[in-house]
Parts: sequence; C-alpha cells; structure tokens
Amino acid sequence: MTGRVLVVDDIPINQRLLAARLTAEYYEVQCASSGLEALEMMAEKQPDVVLLDVMMPGMTGFEVCEKIKANPVYGHVPVVMVTALDSIEDRVRGLQAGADEFLTKPVNDVALLTRVRVLTRLKRILDELKLREATDDEFGVREPISSISGDGGVWLGVDLPGSDIDALEEAAVLCGSKLVIVNDAEMAIARLSAGDAELAVLEVSGAVDGLRLCSQLRAHPEVRNVPILLIGEPWETEFLYKGLELGASDYAFRPTDHAELVARIRLQIKRFRFYEHLRDQHRANRDMATRDSLTGAFNRRYFNDHFARLLDHAVETRQPVSLIMGDIDRFKLINDTHGHPVGDEILLEYMCRMGEVTRASDMIARLGGEEFVVVTPDADLALAGRVAERLRQAVADRPFVIADGTQIAVTCSFGVATAERGESTTEVLTRADAALYEAKRSGRNAVVSAAPLHELADAQIA
Ligand code: GH3
Ligand code: MG
Ligand code: MG
Repeated sequence: MTGRVLVVDDIPINQRLLAARLTAEYYEVQCASSGLEALEMMAEKQPDVVLLDVMMPGMTGFEVCEKIKANPVYGHVPVVMVTALDSIEDRVRGLQAGADEFLTKPVNDVALLTRVRVLTRLKRILDELKLREATDDEFGVREPISSISGDGGVWLGVDLPGSDIDALEEAAVLCGSKLVIVNDAEMAIARLSAGDAELAVLEVSGAVDGLRLCSQLRAHPEVRNVPILLIGEPWETEFLYKGLELGASDYAFRPTDHAELVARIRLQIKRFRFYEHLRDQHRANRDMATRDSLTGAFNRRYFNDHFARLLDHAVETRQPVSLIMGDIDRFKLINDTHGHPVGDEILLEYMCRMGEVTRASDMIARLGGEEFVVVTPDADLALAGRVAERLRQAVADRPFVIADGTQIAVTCSFGVATAERGESTTEVLTRADAALYEAKRSGRNAVVSAAPLHELADAQIA
C-alpha cells in the first residue's frame, strides 16, 4: 500500500532528494516550497503524510504544523518534521506543535521509509474513523472516537537504568499513568500478553536484548499491536533503525527527557487505542450479523448453520445433541396488558434467566417472536429434560420485575427433542415443536419431551 506524500522544503535539492527516494517506493509525491503553499495544497491534494522542513523563510515548520493540526478537515494528517537541528528543545517544540514524528538531516532511508509507511497506515485508519463518525452522526449515535486520549493506563518498562526510569516516572505522572518495571524478557511477554500494559519501553542494548525482545513481542498474537518504545544512545542509531524494522513503534535518545517522552508516548498510546477501538467495532459488526439485537441471543440464521454442524459432529462422535424449544405462555396478553415495551423488557429478562441456568457450551438462539431454543450438546434426552425443567423453574419461580417496579408473573412451556442419527435440523425442530404443543395443551408452564423415534415406530407397529 502506497500513498500520497507532501514534501515541504524551501530548498529545491532537498525536495528532489526526498521525492526521489519516495517515488522509488511508489509513493505519489507533491512538493511545496513554503508554508503558505503547503497549506494551500493540504486541502487540494489531500496527502496521507506531510514531510515538513523546520527552517524556512516566512512561516517556520512549527507554525505550519500548528496550522495543519488546527484544521478540522485535514488536522488528522500525520506530520513528520525534517530538521537539521537535533536538540531536545526543538523536538519538544515540534511535538507541542502537534508533529507526529521527526527525521534528522541527512535523512536515513530506513527511518524515512519506515515512518512514512507506518504513518500512511495510520492515516488510512483515521480516514476510516472519520467516515464512521460522519455515518454515526447521521444515525444519531455518536461514538466518542475523537475523544480517545493517550493518557492513563499502565506502561511497562523492561530492564531500564535508573536515569530512564526517573524520566519515565516523571512522564507517567504528567499522563496520569502508572509505570511498572520488570527485569526480564519472559516477565515482559507474560505481562503484555495478559493485557496488563498499553506500552513497552525497552533499552536497545541492555542486559535484555531489546531487538530480540522486540521481534519476540511482534510474533506474539496477543501483543502484536502494543506500542514499543526503544531507548538508546545517540551512537546506537543503526540499532534503533533495525528496531523500527523489527516492529518497534518509536525510539528516543538518551539523555531521556520527560517532555519528549510524554509527547511520544501519548501519541503511541492514542494510536494503539484507535486500533483496539477498530477491532472492537469489527467484533460488534460480526455480532450484529449473528445475534438478535434485543436480547443478544444468536439469531435464526446462526442457529441453522451451527445446529447443522452440531448434527454432523454428533454423528461422527456418537455423542447426543438435544434441543429445547421454549415459548412464553400467553405473551400476547402481557403485551396487550402492559404494552409492547414491557414485553421487550420481559424478553430481555427471560434471556438473562436462561443464561443463568445453562452452561457456557449451550447455545441460546431466538428463532423469532417469543420463541427461543436452547441447544445442549452432549446431552441425551433425560439430561436435556432436566435442563428444560431448570429453565421452567427459573421463569416461573419468581415474578419478573420491570423498570417501573411492576411485578409480572411469567411462565413458559418447553418441548425437548434429542437428534436421531441422520435427522435434519427441520426434523428435530418439528419434533421439539410438537412436544411444545403438547406442553401448551397440557395447561402450559410445563416440559414435554418428544419420544425417541424408535419408540414411536414401536408404538405404530403395536
Ligand atoms: P401461547 O401461550 O399459546 O404461546 O400464547 P401467546 O400469547 O404467547 O401466543 P402467540 O404466539 O399468539 O403470541 C406471541 C406474541 O408475542 C405476539 C407478539 O405480539 C409477541 N411478540 C413477538 N415478538 C415480540 C417482541 O419482540 N417484543 C414484544 N414485546 N412482543 C413480541
Ligand atoms: Mg407464547
Ligand atoms: Mg408464540
């Protein structure tokens, strides 16, 4: 995936150098010679990343960066400051102006391409989130995406010397975060894969090999996205670049300065939380396709797919699989008496109660209306009958209390069937439904189990 890069520099030869390197990697490059020209091109060219020279006549890079970041349309476009200066004050000044990254002249190829690649990816994510914000606005459901902060949470420092720990401690106080220090790689991997921290700070060449740990962490599925900040000496640049290639997110030079750490870490954590947010959204979308939105039970489509698979599995393993069909008694009357919204509340509470008396491996699905099924893998007819009896009691034993305090007595009837060899989903459902009908006919608030097919056949012969 390539992208559009805007190179801003007052010296044509610098423009050409950067443009040549990026074009060789198939980026589309535009050049601007002044801050003003750059700002004009932001809206027009919609770059994915801006490479911004600091020392320019007229508007300095810092001012241009501030103006970009304050713009509501393109303020999310990542900015990399390209600077001849490498003093901590300038970095801090740049970070305060909202710069996302730094490169020092002469620009190292690996550093340039790594950062542009990472930032292009980030920009795509931010674009997507902005689009979603627009859609959410239309639907009136505003998710606080733009309010995701980089503060709070836990940072993990791995085997760091005292001076780094002091700077990190100071930075953590400013961010309202907690710093935890561990001294070996195993411990770091364990803490991070348990989701205990949102950032790892490693020393590039300490007693714990930072580069090795970096690639170990990136290979770990649970830790893959957690930002890694490397710390190294100014003469360890080559190792730090190697770290970036291995998946580190950023690096800082010694002597570590807490203001620079604050800016870098905030940005990394913010980025990490964006990724996590996207992943949660993805899960929510997946749930939407498989679950009923009112009760959270699986929907009919999912039930059909899954039950067919369970039937195959039951044949292969010769284990039983049973199905309990439940239908609330006189539910129409409840709706008519108390109103449809109260009916909805009852359905929700009904679902909760079913969840309380079934196992995690049981599947609850809503087939439609007030008709639910509970699928009990590995349960024969007798066991499934006992589960159904527990369900019946869970509903009938105490009244349902709804939001305004009204107590409503609810009962439910159940039909139970165990799948026979070779039966289809429809066949099992039909037998469970017939049993449920019997339960209703017997006076409701009852459980009836469908007779096994061979007994039915025997009965017909006799
Ligand atoms: P029975 O004991 O024979 O099952 O009587 P019943 O009244 O429960 O039977 P019926 O199937 O005729 O009525 C089901 C009612 O469930 C009708 C419908 O209005 C209501 N219903 C279906 N889906 C929903 C829902 O999502 N929310 C609410 N509140 N009611 C629903
Ligand atoms: Mg009913
Ligand atoms: Mg019904």
